[in-house]
Amino acid sequence: MSIITFNKTSKHFGALKVLDQVDLSIDAGEVVVLIGPSGSGKSTLLRCINGLEQITDGDLVVDGISVNSGAKQLREIRQEAGMVFQQFNLFPQLTALENVAFGPKKVRGADRQEADRVAMELLKKVGLEDKAKHFPSELSGGQQQRVAIARALAIKPKVMLFDEATSALDPELKQEVLNVMRQLAEEGMTMIVVTHEIGFAKQVGTRLIFMEHGKIAVDGDPRELIDNPPNDRLKDFLQHV
Ligand code: ADP
Ligand code: MG
Repeated sequence: MSIITFNKTSKHFGALKVLDQVDLSIDAGEVVVLIGPSGSGKSTLLRCINGLEQITDGDLVVDGISVNSGAKQLREIRQEAGMVFQQFNLFPQLTALENVAFGPKKVRGADRQEADRVAMELLKKVGLEDKAKHFPSELSGGQQQRVAIARALAIKPKVMLFDEATSALDPELKQEVLNVMRQLAEEGMTMIVVTHEIGFAKQVGTRLIFMEHGKIAVDGDPRELIDNPPNDRLKDFLQHV
């Protein structure tokens, strides 16, 4: 069953066509790894899914709700898609626990005790129970990013969007974040992952999409495409990541 459907979806910034009539359907449980040159539209594609950007043309349906259907519906869509960014974007003045509990309190209207209970559970899930009372500045980059993942999960999204979530991390810290992402995938979470980690794409991805100039250029099985790139541009791209 399709959980995200792009239907001739375009996004323009003025004269710049960033998404160009994208047709794409993603089923529940898929782990889609999205790659492509800088500027090809990867971040914009993710941002349209959770309503951070408005589409210009066509349609985009998330969990049965069209982004074109109004402000109330857009708020619902935002709760279905959790997003994790390259720069962790935690609230610096809140502890790890408060960061994770923030969404349930504000968005889902949970009471404080319940929000804190869920937040603690999620911190445990990402291996950071013992850091609940720490502020972001007291955590490593990898730990901050795991808090950010817990925070995104706290609103109980149906889809998780990762935009170069490990790109800002030192190599030894990347792995702890990738491990949490792999665990989520194994639990059946629907994920779209923009990353340069080709190993992750091969091992965890169920689908690989290569974007170029706002279009989907290649779409298929990660292992097959990485081992035997069907065109020179993908081959060239893979050689340089
Ligand atoms: P990617 O994530 O693949 O690097 P982006 O989706 O970030 O690509 O950007 C695609 C293109 O859209 C780039 O040329 C970028 O400069 C442009 N762009 C992105 N956001 C905006 C914006 N808010 N206003 C104008 N241009 C933008
Ligand atoms: Mg980007």
